[in-house]
Amino acid sequence: MLKNILPIKYYLIHPPPSPEIYSYFCLMNKKYSHLYFDLDKTIWDFERNSESTIAEIYATLELTKKGLPSFDEFHVVYEGHNLKLWDLYRKNEISKQDLMVKRFNDALLDFGYDKPETAERFSDLYLQILPTRTGVFPGTYQALDYLSEKYKLHIITNGFSEVQYTKLKNADLEKYFTHIIVSEDAGAKKPDKAIFEYALKLAEADAATSVMIGDDLEVDLLGAKAAGIDQVFFNVNRLKHEEEITFEIHAMEELMRIF
Ligand SMILES: [Mg+2]
Repeated sequence: MLKNILPIKYYLIHPPPSPEIYSYFCLMNKKYSHLYFDLDKTIWDFERNSESTIAEIYATLELTKKGLPSFDEFHVVYEGHNLKLWDLYRKNEISKQDLMVKRFNDALLDFGYDKPETAERFSDLYLQILPTRTGVFPGTYQALDYLSEKYKLHIITNGFSEVQYTKLKNADLEKYFTHIIVSEDAGAKKPDKAIFEYALKLAEADAATSVMIGDDLEVDLLGAKAAGIDQVFFNVNRLKHEEEITFEIHAMEELMRIF
């Protein structure tokens, strides 16, 4: 159906065939100048990098020898705690320090392992090793090479500053981005529209010519939408949803078709 789109001068004389085609046409011709990217799970493959880090530490600390289950079993439980605690952190109901250690301690406790010092050690090693991992989604460098020629690129992330900068550096991603906005420095976390407004101001960008690209509907995209910024949903898991999002992609390469 979309291949029937005609040049805009046609629509100045004739009514558009349907509102859907007309709005798609307008979007494809919209001029953007600033592209804001989320980092974790959008560019940097957080899940793959995190899982391999935790597996390495699990083996180093010899936890199966100490009566804990297999790594896979532990990891599922850890993930549950981590998600719950991150949600509390975003709502400012738990501190960064508590989140870092508690996610490991709660997982260990679920298997009857009550040794807070092990959770502390786990957390220290995790923060040391994780940012050295360099797994990114397929097509990322290719897309960033292409986009950085045409647009100003920036990062908006809720992660911890020291960790996020190390990840960008190790994965050789720093060079693509003009501004790296970390919630800790911005004084607000996504989806709070204050962090998007802070990011626009910093880059001297307008909401109308900016786009936010992220994997999290609520945190990245609805937050950006509230700040008047168009959105790209990086929906790698093809999650079903009802939200009205400007663009949706399933792989990084698709960005080169939109922009
Ligand atoms: Mg993300």
